[in-house]
Amino acid sequence: MDNVREKIEFDVLFVGGGPANLAAAIHLIKLAKSKGLDLEVALIEKGSNIGAHVLSGAVLNPIALKELIPNYREAGCPIERDVRGDEFYFLTGTRHYRVPFVPEYMHNKGFHLISLSKFVSWLGRVAEDLGVNVFPGFAGKEVLYGQDESTIIGVRTGDKGIGKDNAPKANFEAGIDILAKVTVFGEGPRGSLLQAISKKLHIFEGKMPQVFETGTKEVIQLPETNYFLDSLGNDIHTFGYPLGLNTHGGGFIYEMKDNRVTLGLVVGLSYQDPLLDLYEEFIRFKRHPFISKLIKDGRVIEQGTRTIVTGGYYTMPKLAVDGGLFVGSSASMLNAPALKGIHTSMKSGMLAAQAIVEAFSKGDDFTQESLNYYHQLFEDSWLKKEIYMGRNFTQAVSKKGLVKFFHVGAQYLTGGRGLFDKMPIVEDSKTLSPLKDVNSRRAKRYEKQTYDGVLFVDKLTGVYLSKTQHREDQPSHLIVHDLSLCVNECFETYRCPCTRFCPGNVYELEIDDKIQEKRLRLNPSNCLHCKTCDIKDPYGNITWICPEGGDGPSYTVA
Ligand code: SF4
Repeated sequence: MDNVREKIEFDVLFVGGGPANLAAAIHLIKLAKSKGLDLEVALIEKGSNIGAHVLSGAVLNPIALKELIPNYREAGCPIERDVRGDEFYFLTGTRHYRVPFVPEYMHNKGFHLISLSKFVSWLGRVAEDLGVNVFPGFAGKEVLYGQDESTIIGVRTGDKGIGKDNAPKANFEAGIDILAKVTVFGEGPRGSLLQAISKKLHIFEGKMPQVFETGTKEVIQLPETNYFLDSLGNDIHTFGYPLGLNTHGGGFIYEMKDNRVTLGLVVGLSYQDPLLDLYEEFIRFKRHPFISKLIKDGRVIEQGTRTIVTGGYYTMPKLAVDGGLFVGSSASMLNAPALKGIHTSMKSGMLAAQAIVEAFSKGDDFTQESLNYYHQLFEDSWLKKEIYMGRNFTQAVSKKGLVKFFHVGAQYLTGGRGLFDKMPIVEDSKTLSPLKDVNSRRAKRYEKQTYDGVLFVDKLTGVYLSKTQHREDQPSHLIVHDLSLCVNECFETYRCPCTRFCPGNVYELEIDDKIQEKRLRLNPSNCLHCKTCDIKDPYGNITWICPEGGDGPSYTVA
């Protein structure tokens, strides 16, 4: 098959069409032109369109956007609303209390409320207009190395038209080898290629493990009488109910255009209760009297789920290797205390672009040593200051009970150092407690949950509203390495938590009482590509790999 594989060569290849890589590609072309360099640049994205797979709150701090496209409003940047004011609430089971003090890093006034999907789609068009070759529907499947086995020389895209039996079908198309002098990886959280590179080149050696949160989000169409029209704050954050103080995370609700709101619940994957169901907690959040009043008589028009990399500074990989650079959330570029990663991702991409142009200007030197200029630029930038300030934040909020507030307060007063610096991080897959040690009432609460199919939709309707599609006749992109481990040890110890942390109902436990048999059934075509299963599975028994390019969710307004 390799003999017939097409090869294309570019100067620079970007893998992933999120804000980091798109900002990088735009900045690269502009900088290169200003230096008289004519570079051939390509960007591949696994989603069917640019923007189809991205999902976030999203509050945009425009600091990086202003640097990238100073006239962004005139240039057509899709902004839903400007933030008029922030409100922060503590929720109990039935009540809400406005928090009088909001830390400065959470002040969003003047920032923009956006649909990340629309925003990224716009950045894609800007990049294309500048001459970037943008290829949606192409999933990077394998990293290509030079003869020394350590220099990255490009990426092989996935084959299309392989049957469930792994045999090529009549419509088979071999993946392409896209070769480049520099390859920039901005795959988003838990990138498959990043993990493969990590195994080979040890880019995370000596670092703390990356940790994650999973956010489920909806866009809701409201009737004419809209709370936000006569309210001061259109940027609301909550904590407390439904997660309590032992599980970190919180809710948000933002105003959008056309009488819509976007709302979501983010849950730290360091949670311990194996019976916790991420989706059911999201519905409980919506059912809270304070929230349900805000969305009364609304209709869900889009839903989605995605993970966020929250570990920050101490979990960042090496930023450069021979022939390759790492940007955006896959490189832990998030300001965790501010709950923002779009502007930080964009800036990381722009710094990478600067380093690449420098490498081309100085005699085409793409060794790690040369590309490490990106790291130096990072160290001297506002980006480093932001990320370094939050270096212990996720560790602090992951603490149980009220003690987290002492840590967060101490960090606020000491510029992020806190009570002690370099607080340890535990990998998310290692935090679940065995069922026998947990006194959980969650299952009973979930039993009472009801859905009306309009404002409160069940998991499968949620999948439908994410417009997720996969070609059915292809090998599963979810590899469960040992199914017997699932129905024996994992069932006994944790009751198969994959059936609860997966928001797409991809994992179903079937129990046949007559013959005393249990079976784990997979529905990969429901997969929202959030990768929670790959992260949270306590046995490391699940591996998420890229399905055929173009498959997956198709977000348009989320
Ligand atoms: Fe997310 Fe995994 Fe479920 Fe897909 S199968 S939706 S990646 S948890």
